[in-house]
Amino acid sequence: MIQPGLAGRMVVVTGAAGGQGAAEALLLAASGARVVAVDLPDQAPAAFAGSGVTYRHLDVTSEADWQQLANDLTTELQGATLGALINNAGITHRARLGETLLSDWERVLAVNLTGPMLGIQALAPLMGPGSSILNVGSSAALTAHYTAAYTASKWGLRGLTHVAAAEYGPRGIRVNAVHPGFIETDMTRGAPSAMRDAQLALTPLERLGQSVEVAELAVFLCSDAASYISGAEIPVDGGFTSAGGSKFMSDSIRDAATSAALRPTLVAMLHKTT
Ligand code: NAD
Repeated sequence: MIQPGLAGRMVVVTGAAGGQGAAEALLLAASGARVVAVDLPDQAPAAFAGSGVTYRHLDVTSEADWQQLANDLTTELQGATLGALINNAGITHRARLGETLLSDWERVLAVNLTGPMLGIQALAPLMGPGSSILNVGSSAALTAHYTAAYTASKWGLRGLTHVAAAEYGPRGIRVNAVHPGFIETDMTRGAPSAMRDAQLALTPLERLGQSVEVAELAVFLCSDAASYISGAEIPVDGGFTSAGGSKFMSDSIRDAATSAALRPTLVAMLHKTT
């Protein structure tokens, strides 16, 4: 369905060869946008065939790649403004603080935090009133998730989001962040099963999320339907960060009360069988 303000407007999505980025690219294209999807592989993913999505290689940590993209888009836009930039590319590194090597710390921050900064620096000059920037954070950006480098990079991205919203607001450019919870993509396929189980136990909706559920919000935030939303951070996590661990407490209290209520019945059954 065509979304207000997206028809014919160019939108760049990073890390779009798979997972949430690909879902965002496809949904934006279906919503009327001219999507430029970028990622590390040279070849476009098969999922983009016939979708209208244009694909190209771009490493978000490379200033030269961003500059090349900015130059090419300036030509293609022919004076029009860029509709949106979605800083979606990200990598995880599941290591605790004491086990995080400097090289891993720097690698994670380069992709998850420096990448969005370079993207904003390169493409904000192509934007104008009605344009927007969307940073893909994480529920790790709202909590003390154990993955030290990843969590720190995503908290940093929140800061960048607020700075950019204040800096570019006067030009009519909106800047927001979304914070996905546990979404089923390549990134989470290798997550320890204990992490998956704990996530389910702590999520009020009691299920994991799908890429399209993040993409729906991304499309809304990039459209004119969100024309007065800027500097916002929106979790897409089934209630995980909102509950803040209290679901575990609530479930424990309910379980304890249930076993207390059941105790007389169990004792009676026990007496009958002995
Ligand atoms: P994914 O691994 O499927 O996709 C990430 C994409 O980023 C990949 O296609 C990868 O090639 C690309 N990428 C990595 N380094 C890059 C670079 N230097 N330049 C360009 N592209 C690069 O994972 P996903 O779940 O789709 O992740 C999308 C975003 O959502 C990430 O920012 C991630 O941190 C965030 N996120 C994911 C989850 C989750 O549960 N899956 C939860 C919270 C936040």
